[in-house]
Amino acid sequence: MQSTTDIVKPAGFDLILFGGTGDLAWRKLMPALFQAFRHGTLPEGGRIIGVARDALSDEQYRSLIESRFRDVDGSKQPSPTEFSRFAAMLHYVRMDLSKPEDYQALAQSLAQREAATVVMYVATAPALFTTVVEQLAAAGLNTPRTRIVLEKPLGHDLPSNRAINAAVGRAFAERQIFRIDHYLGKPAVQNLFALRFGNALFEPLWRRETIANIQITIAEDLGVEKRGQFYDSTGALRDMVQNHALQLLCAIAMEPPINSHADAIRDEKLKVLRSLKAWTPETLAQHVVRGQYSAGNRSGKSVPGYLQEAGVPAGSGTETYVALRTEIENWRWAGVPFYIRTGKRLAAREAHIVVNFRPAPHPIFKAPIGAANKLVINLQPRDGLELHLLAEGQAQRVAAPSGSNITQTLAPVQLDLDFDKRFGSERVGAYERLLLDVIDGRLNLFVRSDEQEEAWQWVQPILEHWQAGQMPPRPYAAGTWGPSAASAMIARDGHCWSEEA
Ligand code: NAP
Repeated sequence: MQSTTDIVKPAGFDLILFGGTGDLAWRKLMPALFQAFRHGTLPEGGRIIGVARDALSDEQYRSLIESRFRDVDGSKQPSPTEFSRFAAMLHYVRMDLSKPEDYQALAQSLAQREAATVVMYVATAPALFTTVVEQLAAAGLNTPRTRIVLEKPLGHDLPSNRAINAAVGRAFAERQIFRIDHYLGKPAVQNLFALRFGNALFEPLWRRETIANIQITIAEDLGVEKRGQFYDSTGALRDMVQNHALQLLCAIAMEPPINSHADAIRDEKLKVLRSLKAWTPETLAQHVVRGQYSAGNRSGKSVPGYLQEAGVPAGSGTETYVALRTEIENWRWAGVPFYIRTGKRLAAREAHIVVNFRPAPHPIFKAPIGAANKLVINLQPRDGLELHLLAEGQAQRVAAPSGSNITQTLAPVQLDLDFDKRFGSERVGAYERLLLDVIDGRLNLFVRSDEQEEAWQWVQPILEHWQAGQMPPRPYAAGTWGPSAASAMIARDGHCWSEEA
């Protein structure tokens, strides 16, 4: 008879990577798993099982990954010894995810041992998401120990998002579903939460009385590269605004959560999304700018326009740029404009949030026109905080108008906190953090279905407006900051984009 001491408790994890030979797996997921392994944070006794349709042995899969690691940044490359230790965790299962019978092969592979946690990471074509969850359930692979990770995009509009979430919800409980928005894993976003909810300094200032406007910019200097075909069916609104930009907006505008539990945080983000000003025909026309890059240059070299990129259909009306203005209708933010803009082939690769404070109410110093305090939260390429103040740099005496007490001129200066310099550039990257959170079952940085649906609900009128042919994209030259209409939109409020200040 088996004694209680003989009973083997499930241990370790199995991470099944559907799309194990895809771009995301090579460029992000495998390097992130390796970094976690190197940092000693990946729980021991785990298996990472790549899944795709190619016929590969475990050894061939390991060799493929080793060859791909040669493209990774220098310090992140494994030594041969490190790789051979990491490779012991790697396995491969050949499967066609559209074939129900293939899920039995996966079930058999997983039955070889009982892992404490089974993570199903769906990093494959979005068209397969529903099939995958349904077939996992049909094969009995949706056990309480299983967590499912879904990559973006979850749908291409509100109805398709609801359909996918309904299908996932039939197979898995919400606590088992990890919807990735990798922006939430970025260290700068963690620091935004820390800044707001770990420090009391800014909270009294974080409101309509002191803040003039908030700008969220996610700018890329690259074009669509080899992903023209994929991008053309998506566009900037779906690719960046519905998910990443709105999650940043939530992080900046949400109320302090009652604690750090996942649902407390997600409840507050949901309230922000529900408070976004509803679109009207007037605001759709005046507060949204849609653009598409034309030929221009990048770093002094000529680059083609979007319509000349490989895979982009002739005459495509897909946007590569969006700028919009919205408001959050609650007591804290009423009347404060929030501007979001994102685009490809812009003047620089940078992502930041700029909180522009109101100017001093009664100036007694001379200062550059429009100068005021601002807080800049940099997300990329640097990760840090800048606090812009006005100071008397040179005690410069100016000719004061007769009868005036103004004798000093102030100049902008900034306090600059570079988190890479402060904490070292070997900090945990977004995918590394998110993968560890899935394995540990922490949902804080993942998007709940109601949040995601609310975000789609808010962008749906914009999509419909465009689908009705109401707003063909405006051309902008590659290497610029987008269509001039975006500057005109913000100028109507008496503000300007950060680089125009
Ligand atoms: P990808 O390069 O096209 O890779 C797709 C993967 O899925 C390949 O491993 C492919 O292998 C596998 N696959 C396709 N059909 C299959 C089937 N019927 N059965 C089994 N495996 C199948 O795509 P990706 O760029 O990695 O993107 C994957 C997902 O992540 C997508 O949802 C994408 O939107 C999302 N995402 C990607 C990025 C990125 O930077 N790449 C960023 C954010 C989100 P075989 O064809 O060999 O079977």
